Amino acid sequence: MTEIFTGSFTQQEPIPEEAVEAALVVLRHGRLHRYNVVPGELGETALLEQEFAAQTGAKYCLAVSSGGYAMATALRAVGVNPGDPVLTNTFTLAPVPGSIASVSARPVFVGVTEDLTIDLDDLETKLDQARVLMLSHMRGHLCDMDRLMQMCDAAGVTVIEDCAHTMGAAWHGQVSGRQGAIGCYSCQTYKHVNSGEGGLLVTDDEELAAKATMLSGSYMLYERHLAAPGPEVFERIKYHTPNVSGRMDNLRAAILRPQLRDLDRQIERWNERYFEIEKGLRDTPGLSVVDRPEVETFVGSSIQFLLLDWSAERVNEVIQRCAARGVELKWFGGAEPNGFTSRYDSWRYADSAPMPKSDRILAGIVDMRVPLTFSLEDCALIARIIRAEVSAVYQS
Ligand SMILES: *Cc1c(COP(=O)(O)O)cnc(C)c1O
Repeated sequence: MTEIFTGSFTQQEPIPEEAVEAALVVLRHGRLHRYNVVPGELGETALLEQEFAAQTGAKYCLAVSSGGYAMATALRAVGVNPGDPVLTNTFTLAPVPGSIASVSARPVFVGVTEDLTIDLDDLETKLDQARVLMLSHMRGHLCDMDRLMQMCDAAGVTVIEDCAHTMGAAWHGQVSGRQGAIGCYSCQTYKHVNSGEGGLLVTDDEELAAKATMLSGSYMLYERHLAAPGPEVFERIKYHTPNVSGRMDNLRAAILRPQLRDLDRQIERWNERYFEIEKGLRDTPGLSVVDRPEVETFVGSSIQFLLLDWSAERVNEVIQRCAARGVELKWFGGAEPNGFTSRYDSWRYADSAPMPKSDRILAGIVDMRVPLTFSLEDCALIARIIRAEVSAVYQS
């Protein structure tokens, strides 16, 4: 009998009851705007920032309207100007080059390795082309962060980290988002905490924190923040920093706080599912799983494997056959952008030279989300289906 998977790849878990209760409190008092507080009240957004700063060990934290907004704000705060080149990953998602384009700067793409991380050798040759690297920890794969930071520090390149897929991850025990000058996280439904939309930004640099806060639309109410620098820092920058409104609101903050407290448990659940799928895929002829470095603590909220040097037709056949059995795979090698997958050469607003080494890898990357609504049995079944269909096409 042919096994079929009938679950949904886009179904999230419900918002925890504790978060629903916290949301109802905000709805009942009606003070949704972050600066709308009664005397003595600490707003949900300010508390969220204080707690996320503590959780990541950062001095400062700012909550904003989306992950993409956090990244664009980071670029503005570090002083990227229109026309400036900004280094970034070839293998990433559209909001990453999009954040660079949003400040009228110019992405300079850096290649991808078979580990699905940024190619540090390629980066080395391009470090003299830009002052800033927007480093995307795409699909939660961390590169050798020690080597990357050494290289960027030596070249005077400021690193901004896109941690949309690494909230809760770490390199050598160091929390992801804390090696670069600024770390940016997304709280969007498909990431590691769910407020529909939302973003967080962390930094230890007081001036960057003050600028980001002003940029996010703090008017002159920055003293209502609990994880921002003192007023003297704002005095230095407030006349020169525009308001580009993109604040977080108290309703979203209220539902995020309990979720962040629960993050470690959720990560364990993601990783159980990830390892179950990985176990089922290992040693499938023609398929390579991506081995994770021992010093990387990751969050298995998605899984990737490589069908390296397969023709486009055969990869497509695998995708179709798996889809027919209920398993939704995404392919980063497709010529046309499709759903959330797109390639550097489909972002035609940004010039790019051909990157044959990266093209070979992108052409083989198959990607799958791992929602927590999957049971471990679901994961084992999904792996059996992928294994069977990859084997069938490989042997044909
Ligand atoms: C989702 C995502 C973002 C942006 O987050 P939004 O909150 O959707 O703006 C940035 N980078 C990557 C890699 C993402 O997947």
